Amino acid sequence: MSEAQANIGVVGMAVMGSNLARNLASREGNTVAIFNRSTEKAHAVAEAHPEAGFIVADTMQSFADSLAKPRTAIIMVKAGGPTDAVINQLVEVFEPGDIIVDGGNALFTDTIRREAAVRETGIHFVGAGISGGEEGALNGPSIMPGGTEESYKTLGPILSSIAAVAEGEPCVTHVGTDGAGHFVKMIHNGIEYADMQLIAEAYDLLRNVAGLSVEEIADVFTEWNKGELESYLIEITAEVLRQKDADTGKPLVDVILDAAGSKGTGVWTVQTALGLGVPVSGIAEAVFARAVSSKPAQRAAATDLPGPSSVAAIEDKAAFIEDVRQALYASKIIAYSQGFDAIIEGAKEYNWDIKKGEVARIWRAGCIIRAQFLNRITEAYAADPDLVLLVAAPYFKDAVTKAEGAWRRVAIKAIESGIPSPAFSSSLAYYDGVRADRLPAALVQGQRDFFGAHTYKRIDKEGTFHTQWSGDRTEITAEDTH
Ligand code: NAP
Repeated sequence: MSEAQANIGVVGMAVMGSNLARNLASREGNTVAIFNRSTEKAHAVAEAHPEAGFIVADTMQSFADSLAKPRTAIIMVKAGGPTDAVINQLVEVFEPGDIIVDGGNALFTDTIRREAAVRETGIHFVGAGISGGEEGALNGPSIMPGGTEESYKTLGPILSSIAAVAEGEPCVTHVGTDGAGHFVKMIHNGIEYADMQLIAEAYDLLRNVAGLSVEEIADVFTEWNKGELESYLIEITAEVLRQKDADTGKPLVDVILDAAGSKGTGVWTVQTALGLGVPVSGIAEAVFARAVSSKPAQRAAATDLPGPSSVAAIEDKAAFIEDVRQALYASKIIAYSQGFDAIIEGAKEYNWDIKKGEVARIWRAGCIIRAQFLNRITEAYAADPDLVLLVAAPYFKDAVTKAEGAWRRVAIKAIESGIPSPAFSSSLAYYDGVRADRLPAALVQGQRDFFGAHTYKRIDKEGTFHTQWSGDRTEITAEDTH
């Protein structure tokens, strides 16, 4: 048996695992053991990066033997069955007190199941959301670990050493027990979908209503990145728009097929939110917009459907551009408010003590939605940890108060022009819904009671009521009807 030399191991040497292993190896005090099912890949990674000083294991047993106790291994393999297979192999060779970390993109309910099963063996299982793609894994991701407090005592310092740093603080925190980390990572990805869709809608309006060229829109995004919208996504949008196609010389965006793909975390977010009864309409519209874009047969069948013959007139181009910026900012606030709402409801449902301000703090660097604006979210939850609605916090209320007029003008121009802006419009509809004194839900309750005797509550007295709709319409308590 070889002598234990490594303080951390990584299983899975595809792009994410090898980059994470290199990141770990580059930090003072770490010695990293690596393992891959196809062992030649692990050797190739070690040969390509001699500076990392990797210990390459050819079997799961020698991998375990190379790790100092308590053993800590991060799994970075394909999500689903492959992750289960690797967990089972590690459980065979690990001992109570050791720690298995799944850093892949697992569905949080799988993580809850795996944590419960592995806990039976006395081994710790930690599902950790790791955001930032390949570049983040190599240079510093935002890390969202779940699992027990006890495992975080060992894991916390290791993860802090490789995480991205924002304003001097590592972008990692113990999010909560079992699946909390992967849940929060899922919501992060959902918000990312909404943010990207909103930026795409802003681009579409600047291009097709304001009539700006692609280069001019790139300049607008560069300018916006200096203000309250400053973020990685706004920054890369300007770069994507500036890119020229080598073959045609056209802006690359004009030769890319307009069919947006996805890997499923947006769908998971919306499915989960539907189950929790949380209106994440901005995220849902973003997922649906990608689906619409990726249906060539339906789009071909719809090309002859009528729409406005011309786009809405713009009197003052500069004023319209500023309106779009404000509409984007207000809609983005709604997307985050809805995302944090999902975190609040998920925490209630699964018994997690998630610190919302901490979540915003660890999203400030290393991940795709990194933005200045997240500091304001941390401040809002610091001022009121029990805040029920982010958009109603003073800073955000003030922001939407300033943006509201522009938001409505932009939604109107988009509708008049026949330009789809589902995320802008649905964010505004959500905003008007949540702030309304009285909603037509009263009529829906009447309809439900009419056809299904589903009962209703009254505004003027306690109790549950049912009306004999086709009879004399007297109100009787539900208890009386059963
Ligand atoms: P990947 O393509 O998702 O997976 C490839 C790795 O999984 C290889 O090491 C492969 O080993 C291993 N694997 C597949 N089936 C296996 C099995 N049955 N038993 C053991 N190992 C198996 O790799 P990736 O893109 O680096 O992503 C790793 C994880 O990080 C995934 O969960 C992914 O969702 C997540 N993630 C990826 C990104 C990204 O930007 N790519 C970002 C965040 C999170 P072999 O070499 O032997 O086939």
